Amino acid sequence: MRFDYDAVIVGAGGAGLYAALEASGAGKTAVITKLYPQRSHTGAAQGGISAALGNVEEDSPEWHAFDTVKGGDYLVDQNAAIILAEEAVRAVFDLENRGLPFSRTPEGKIDQRRFGGHTRDFGAAAVRRSCYAADRTGHMILQTLYQQCIKNDVAFHDEWQVVDVVMDGTLLTGLVVFELSTGELHLVSAKAVLFATGGFGRMFKVTSNAMANTGDGPALLSRAGVPLMDMEFFQFHPTGIRTMGILITEGVRGEGGILLNRDGYRFMEKYAPTMMDLAPRDMVSRAIMTEIAEGKGIKGDRKIDDWVHLDASHLGRETVEAKIPDIADFCRTYLGVDPAVEPMPVQPTAHYAMGGIPTDLDGRVTDGKRTWDGLYAAGECACVSVHGANRLGTNSLVELIVFGRRAGNTIAKYVGTATSVNPGRAGDDKIKAWKDRIIGLKKGGAHSGKTYEAMQETMMANVGVYRNEGAMQNAVDDIAGLRDSYTEIGVQDQDSNYNTEVLSILELENLLDLSLHTSAAALARTESRGAHSREDYPDRDDKNWLKHSLSNIVGGKVILDSKPVDVSRWEPKPRVY
Ligand SMILES: Cc1cc2nc3c(=O)[nH]c(=O)nc-3n(C[C@H](O)[C@H](O)[C@H](O)COP(=O)(O)OP(=O)(O)OC[C@H]3O[C@@H](n4cnc5c(N)ncnc54)[C@H](O)[C@@H]3O)c2cc1C
Repeated sequence: MRFDYDAVIVGAGGAGLYAALEASGAGKTAVITKLYPQRSHTGAAQGGISAALGNVEEDSPEWHAFDTVKGGDYLVDQNAAIILAEEAVRAVFDLENRGLPFSRTPEGKIDQRRFGGHTRDFGAAAVRRSCYAADRTGHMILQTLYQQCIKNDVAFHDEWQVVDVVMDGTLLTGLVVFELSTGELHLVSAKAVLFATGGFGRMFKVTSNAMANTGDGPALLSRAGVPLMDMEFFQFHPTGIRTMGILITEGVRGEGGILLNRDGYRFMEKYAPTMMDLAPRDMVSRAIMTEIAEGKGIKGDRKIDDWVHLDASHLGRETVEAKIPDIADFCRTYLGVDPAVEPMPVQPTAHYAMGGIPTDLDGRVTDGKRTWDGLYAAGECACVSVHGANRLGTNSLVELIVFGRRAGNTIAKYVGTATSVNPGRAGDDKIKAWKDRIIGLKKGGAHSGKTYEAMQETMMANVGVYRNEGAMQNAVDDIAGLRDSYTEIGVQDQDSNYNTEVLSILELENLLDLSLHTSAAALARTESRGAHSREDYPDRDDKNWLKHSLSNIVGGKVILDSKPVDVSRWEPKPRVY
């Protein structure tokens, strides 16, 4: 079928819902989402949303912006970080006014807790900046925004998966969409389309990310010629539940939890004397891997699957149950460990994509040289860039609201003046090609499971917390090989209704492309910066590498280009915490 809107938002996480809310005032707006909106990964966010409200301690947006820039190892665009920090305050009050049930101080103000890398006075000490709703902040954001979208007559197409775009030069004229319940293919056009499809942690074996985090937006736009930015920077969160990767929020350390090695030593003292357990995530993940490599993990066998302890038992049961109730439940359910009385076994888990679709400060997709008309991106799939080489905890949720709102606003203005688009013959051709492709997949072939596992294994082993040339080259070769043999894959399930097997194969294709972007861009960057930490190039090299990378896949090979970083406010300095 054919559908026509003024604005289409792909993705119903925090970024997509906020953008939809803003755009809905200006024209017919729809959200297309492969999941039911409330199942988006935003709902899994536990720790909080940062804003310098100064409710509990003195704070300022300027300190927040500085921490963001320093936390991102100076690869952050500083003009974007200043907007993030200044508009964060309004974003949180706005969520409060729309009904979000924040945790409160005894006087009734929004309560705030500490989080890694957030400091007062340009690094003097940790500051309470993260606003939270127990350890269910993202869940509350999703519920609040979804209700507001319904109230504002946003149309929802749930369980519709965008599989391709129709382009006319740099103008996006249509989306090809697969409807899960029927297997039908639809052509959707809109004057403005925003991608808010979230992250892609599933390319790694141990990850905190949901199964649906397969980077569909960046992958399919990349195939349509949009370069991706800073793909080498992927964050490992220090505290995933051992082997499972399920996240234990940094909020545990924000509330006073500490990391211990097998000798019961609080090892972060050694690596970050001022901030200790609340140093940025890249540093804490490296510290854990170093302790493990030195035989001070809990098992002590120096293997990368060893772990350390996160101890919150000294906080007492009352605090644990009030401040981190879901975490306590996860640990009891999955590990049989009760955090109120014993430490939690943790290891780094692949968590957050700093890179993605390059945009300007208002969500327009641009690589600095070309701008794509009517095409926008926001949230984790986008790269503004406010996170640079390493994101600070709680800065993602605030990015969703601040930049989701800005993009939604820009779309609202744009659809008022833009003329309608028509995918025309190119759209019909695409639909035909996709019908043929799905028929082809149903003729059978190799099961996709082995390829999926091989991708996750090589990315985990070779493009993880610590990297070096040989390992990354192995990953590039492995992924290139997996992409070549991908054409042999087929589906066993012949049904039209709810054929999730077809969709998971398309998601795997997206992950393979993004794995190639990530490993090749990482191999090319001969320095260490933020989450990209090379054993063979241990130092940051501002002379040659203070620049964003842009990557395209052409003929199976990654072609790299670069884009300048905005350093208009603070001069890059070494990072000390
Ligand atoms: C376990 C966990 C805890 C976290 N905790 C915090 C925290 O405390 N604070 C913080 O700041 N950040 C946190 N983060 C990071 C933050 O939650 C995410 O970066 C953010 O929620 C991403 O939001 P989003 O709107 O970009 O996308 P998501 O919320 O991931 O939503 C993506 C949407 O895109 C849709 N979609 C995807 N592909 C398609 C397609 N092909 N067609 C149609 N629809 C599609 C999905 O259906 C979904 O609705 C956490 C992340 C994880 C994994």
